[in-house]
Amino acid sequence: MAAHYDVLIVGGGIAGLSLASALAGNCTVALVEAEQELAYHTSSRSARQLIPSYGPAVVQELTVRTLELIAARDAELPEPVLSPRSFMLIGTEDAVAAEASGHMRSITPAEALELCPALIPGTFRAAGLDTGSFGCNAPLLLADHRQRALAAGVDIITGARVHSAQRVGSGWQVGAGMEAFEAGVLVNAAGAWADELAVISGVEKLGLQPYRRTAAIAAVERPLPERSPMVAAADNSFYFRRDGADVLISPSETVPSGPEDAKPRPGDMERLVARLNQVTTLGITEVRRAWTGLRTEAADGVPVAGFDAEAPGFYWLAGQGGYGFQTSAAMAELAAAQILAGQSTTETAATGPASRTAQALAATRWSVRR
Ligand SMILES: Cc1cc2nc3c(=O)[nH]c(=O)nc-3n(C[C@H](O)[C@H](O)[C@H](O)COP(=O)(O)OP(=O)(O)OC[C@H]3O[C@@H](n4cnc5c(N)ncnc54)[C@H](O)[C@@H]3O)c2cc1C
Repeated sequence: MAAHYDVLIVGGGIAGLSLASALAGNCTVALVEAEQELAYHTSSRSARQLIPSYGPAVVQELTVRTLELIAARDAELPEPVLSPRSFMLIGTEDAVAAEASGHMRSITPAEALELCPALIPGTFRAAGLDTGSFGCNAPLLLADHRQRALAAGVDIITGARVHSAQRVGSGWQVGAGMEAFEAGVLVNAAGAWADELAVISGVEKLGLQPYRRTAAIAAVERPLPERSPMVAAADNSFYFRRDGADVLISPSETVPSGPEDAKPRPGDMERLVARLNQVTTLGITEVRRAWTGLRTEAADGVPVAGFDAEAPGFYWLAGQGGYGFQTSAAMAELAAAQILAGQSTTETAATGPASRTAQALAATRWSVRR
């Protein structure tokens, strides 16, 4: 017999787990994850930085709200999720001006060199600094969500890939692995597989596109000082930050991919190391480990949160792109409020992916505007 829940969340990454903990105690919830472990895919592969000046305006709003929510929770935890770590952009005047917005202020190249002495003078002409940026202990955040959800009675089932989902009566019948579920609301937090899950559920795709991004931990001859900012090239050709005595580095690539267990490609890291050894004095000696994740985006580059316009009870929590952690708590807060209010938007005709995204976003903007 199928187990019945008010809400069935598909996807055990940061999106699904944040929502599970936001809903916990307010309704019956189950979360199903295809992999044997939670957060196996992109949510265990991030750079762990929350940057209020990064992304379109609505993402910046969501980031500020997420930082507020995580900081409030940090006050109750023995070890904080957040640790101050500024974010610095470098490049040409035009490239920095094009990327710098909102919470970022312009600084001189001399100030940038003082903050990050590993940069080589003359390799950039302009810089911007976001001092409201934080490092994020992602494993701790994920574990806290899981713990809160479990403590409030959420059922978390791993190793159960959703293979079928139909709208029956006023709810959903879902098959996942060997299990069967019934739920009033089906939440699509399936990351790179979000469109695939829509198809399985008989729901129109949104045109979400996964993009590869690789990162690595590398050994250096000259470690960065403790308070060093994360540094990113404004032309999106690299970023790096301190990671203890090592550095975390990325070529910042945005290469389209299908949904898959992405892996680094030969040459990616070698080219990046050569570049970083030209523009810094870090002296990268060895790549200790490299990984690739998928940043999944809607056509307008803005996360999607909202009930599907045509499929009653089907809630999208997807398209977080490169902002999945920094928008997570605000997105979960919004999603939980909408789901608990039973706020379906079926009366609004959707004319295509962009309009659906825009529709979801209208709610997002409304939610975080104060
Ligand atoms: C290199 C890199 C650096 C990044 N750095 C940052 C950063 O510094 N800050 C930031 O905010 N963001 C960053 N991001 C982005 C962030 O990691 C993502 O936005 C976020 O992890 C997406 O979370 P998710 O829960 O949507 O997806 P995922 O973590 O991929 O979770 C989706 C889950 O759904 C499961 N699933 C899929 N289909 C099914 C199915 N049919 N049945 C059951 N389960 C299913 C999958 O197995 C998966 O576990 C970075 C990303 C990369 C790749």
